[in-house]
Amino acid sequence: KIKHKSDIEIAQEAPIKPIQEIIGGLDILEDEIEYYGKYKAKISLEFLNRVKTNPDGKVILVTAITPTPAGEGKSTVTVGLGQALNQLKKKAVIAIREPSLGPTMGIKGGAAGGGYSQVIPMEEINLHFTGDIHAITTANNALAALIDNHIHQGNECQIDPRRITWKRVMDLNDRALRNIVIGLGGPANGTPREDHFDITVASEIMAILCLASDLKDLTNRLSKIVIGFSYQREPVTVGDLGFEGALTLLLKDALKPNIVQTLEHTPAIIHGGPFANIAHGCNSLLGTKMAAKLADYVVTEAGFGADLGAEKFLHIKTRAGEFSPAAVVIVATVRALKMHGGVPKDQLGISDKDAMLAGAENLAKHIESIEKFGLPYVVAVNRFVTDTQEETDALMKWCEVHSHPAALTEVWEKGGAGGIELAEKVLETIEHTENHFDYLYDLNDSIKDKIEKVAKAVYGAKAVDFTSKALKQVKDFEQYGWSNLPICMAKTQYSLSDQPELLGRPKDFTLTIRELKPSIGAGFLVCLTGDIMTMPGLPKKPAALSMNVDEKGKARGLF
Ligand code: ADP
Repeated sequence: KIKHKSDIEIAQEAPIKPIQEIIGGLDILEDEIEYYGKYKAKISLEFLNRVKTNPDGKVILVTAITPTPAGEGKSTVTVGLGQALNQLKKKAVIAIREPSLGPTMGIKGGAAGGGYSQVIPMEEINLHFTGDIHAITTANNALAALIDNHIHQGNECQIDPRRITWKRVMDLNDRALRNIVIGLGGPANGTPREDHFDITVASEIMAILCLASDLKDLTNRLSKIVIGFSYQREPVTVGDLGFEGALTLLLKDALKPNIVQTLEHTPAIIHGGPFANIAHGCNSLLGTKMAAKLADYVVTEAGFGADLGAEKFLHIKTRAGEFSPAAVVIVATVRALKMHGGVPKDQLGISDKDAMLAGAENLAKHIESIEKFGLPYVVAVNRFVTDTQEETDALMKWCEVHSHPAALTEVWEKGGAGGIELAEKVLETIEHTENHFDYLYDLNDSIKDKIEKVAKAVYGAKAVDFTSKALKQVKDFEQYGWSNLPICMAKTQYSLSDQPELLGRPKDFTLTIRELKPSIGAGFLVCLTGDIMTMPGLPKKPAALSMNVDEKGKARGLF
């Protein structure tokens, strides 16, 4: 049996170029770069201003089937496809999200691709990187502190402490902080009230940073944040409190996209990192826009399955940025499809073509959704070395029989060279397949209609149930004039439905809308379904248990 190197071993052994050399091949001026050490830099927003009228590169969106503990490898394929395009002498840049420490310390152990398709320096990217997430955490919590102080100092805006919806955040999975009481200890210590913590990537500030088009738009969006309601039940905004300037100041550097490289020195823009289950799940719009000015092809990724990240990429991000993707890559693995077909995790090593084909129903649903958006697509079968020939052949055959363009990719094992077939298929698809991109709902549809359209068309739900709380909120939101915003569904990533245990392609299920949350600054309404939580917990054996640093300061235990 061959022993494969771990992601971190490959990343630490890889030759890395100074970031100047990576940037040197791109149309960026020295004045437009801010270095963060030898291997990381930020690109100033001046760059976008200068190249405003240049043509945009084509955006390729990488999405996937419903994730399982077997692993799908979206980031790996995104990085690998970028590298493969460069091997084909196409100018390509990758645009992905920044990892959050929550899942890194929990189950993921890092999110910078895998095998020979990774972004480096992987330790820094997975840990504190350029401090963007810290800046977002700080801005979020500065706002929380300013709100409590406003109440303590006389409460001019008449904020009802029982109706504050703004939560504190931290970039860790910490279930003990989900529900807390603050302000105890008498009058000198503020007004006692119930409070909550979310993970930073669920903060509206993260979403705002990812959708803002420049500093001015950032301030404007921050001022529209609704922090809660007054005793008169009127929404109270950051603008009412006058805090938008301070928040913009805390975020001014975080707004600039970061640039690093892949193992094959393909430029990679890594910026912003909302999760796709509890937030909109895409890297920053500025990052994508910059990548599109720098290259002919941008390979970007949206989180979790196509029901989550891709749906929100297509309904929220492309609307905010007024662009449309050229093609979609849908990543599938034999292992994950076997799990969707009923095979338990500990038996994935046993070849089982029939279970895999049964699980392919999940892939079929995601393909159908992308087709509904009118977009050309290619299925990327991300091969694991443990997959049997019989299984991969059967999956490729399944794609052929159903006329789905597909390519077997081995980018994890071989880097860009393992993605040439995929890159060629994607180029051919962009060239020859018609693109009829359109949204599945209209902004003028009612809030309930928008939710129902996504639930039925993308999830395959039979019906949608609203709790009485959600129904009341729908009414209130309509009164506040918020009904023409896109919706941001918050749903478990493990199922097309809102019930994590329903794998494959669930049918005849009813989706429950539990609660709505206005994210007016971000420009959408969050709809919480099922039991989805905005502060994750840690597993029994967190990845943190195997993390360490050696005598030379090298990280261990990031996967
Ligand atoms: P996603 O973006 O879908 O969450 P990643 O690309 O981050 O997935 O991959 C998750 C993990 O799976 C990484 O540790 C990566 O090394 C591993 N992985 C991905 N593809 C393969 C593959 N083909 N063979 C083995 N391991 C893989």
